[in-house]
Amino acid sequence: MTAPKSGSSWLGIGSLFVEPPEDFWPAFSTAHSFTDNAAQIEELKLQSEHRANEFSVPTLPPPEGEATRILDAFAAEGWVEKEERWCCPQCQEQLGEAEAQEPTCPSCEVLFQDHGGLVQETVYVRDLAAIRPVDWVVAIHGMNTAGAWQEEFSWLMGSTWGRSVPVAVYKYGIVITGVLLFWRRRQLLSDFRAKLDKLRQQAVAQNLSDCPDLIAHSFGTWLFGHLLEGELHRPKEERLRFGRVILTGCVLRPDFDWQKMRDAGLVEEVLNHYGTKDPVVPVAHLAIVRSGPSGRRGFDSEQVWNIRAANYGHSSLFAIDRFVVDGKPLQKTPGENGVRHLEHSYQRYWRPFLTLPAEELGRIPDRANPKHPWKALPWPLSGNLFPYLAVPLLLALIVFLVPCLHRLLDPIQGATKTFLKYGGLGLLAVLSTTGLIFLGRWILGRGH
Ligand SMILES: [Zn+2]
Repeated sequence: MTAPKSGSSWLGIGSLFVEPPEDFWPAFSTAHSFTDNAAQIEELKLQSEHRANEFSVPTLPPPEGEATRILDAFAAEGWVEKEERWCCPQCQEQLGEAEAQEPTCPSCEVLFQDHGGLVQETVYVRDLAAIRPVDWVVAIHGMNTAGAWQEEFSWLMGSTWGRSVPVAVYKYGIVITGVLLFWRRRQLLSDFRAKLDKLRQQAVAQNLSDCPDLIAHSFGTWLFGHLLEGELHRPKEERLRFGRVILTGCVLRPDFDWQKMRDAGLVEEVLNHYGTKDPVVPVAHLAIVRSGPSGRRGFDSEQVWNIRAANYGHSSLFAIDRFVVDGKPLQKTPGENGVRHLEHSYQRYWRPFLTLPAEELGRIPDRANPKHPWKALPWPLSGNLFPYLAVPLLLALIVFLVPCLHRLLDPIQGATKTFLKYGGLGLLAVLSTTGLIFLGRWILGRGH
């Protein structure tokens, strides 16, 4: 299901299988003039958030008349159903309709009328599915960070669950040439798969699922997406499979075929949390083959939960030195109500995404899909040419700038200079053509 934009649109269209979204409550209070019933509404909301499937008047603060009015309104909005029940006055056993017609209790066999007659009660019921269990999680960092957030994330996973959820932190170190050169990428991918396969075997040996959830950032998302593509070519019984997947600062192509991955059972659900001011992601498309700016504009797919983080940069979602204060992100000081970005991302988006039953995922806020389909840059500019110009150029620069090396390599100095000149010109051509294409798209009003 798709979440409506504002709370008011939830009025009258409740569901017995879904927890009302956060913004339902103020709209509910206003619509039914419950402005003087703050304590009762607060208690109902709390019970609802704890996923109670049964509500009743005595569990809300007094006065009873008002509590009844609130629960009746909750039912009228469609979030619960009102139900009459009968119980034995002696053993409190709940009775079916036919049993309530009999004179004696089927459980304790007393005569109802000897104990003051049947007890009738009114309850308000619904049918929420159980919270999805999270067995273990894999965390993969980005390109040139040691991934300090992974430790913080692990701590959150371990401390807010009521039990410890193992987090396998996958580290591949600092890679620069690795993202540019295809043989290094192939090696990284193969190491990554070998490690995941080993983790899976260990998990199964410890009675955990063979299908972990996963969170990835930046180049980690590229590794993960390409790992999945590789799995499609393996026999079914060998394939690595994943549960729910969170992508941040994602550098996969926005037209990545998630439908295929889901149909093959390789992933259960995917959340793409994108920052609209991510400066790194657009560059990836130029420098890395088969990549694109999905971490800045979302995937062109209904198969993914695209969650928009307005004005966020490449790593803002994980920031532990920036705060969300009264709904305002990227604040430098926490003030009174400030929450660190990492905690904010975790509590508001990622934890619900990992735990909510599939039919309730629509409650996750700030979902926004791209307005236009993405267009890849022409072949030479989409990561195919860049590495072959940038890497030799870098090497040529080093050779040229280190004087001692310079002297030693005097005989080939001419060649180095030539390389520097043409490599530089080539790179300049790639960069300026890309600039012109974006400019052209922008002028034509079709770009994004
Ligand atoms: Zn009884």
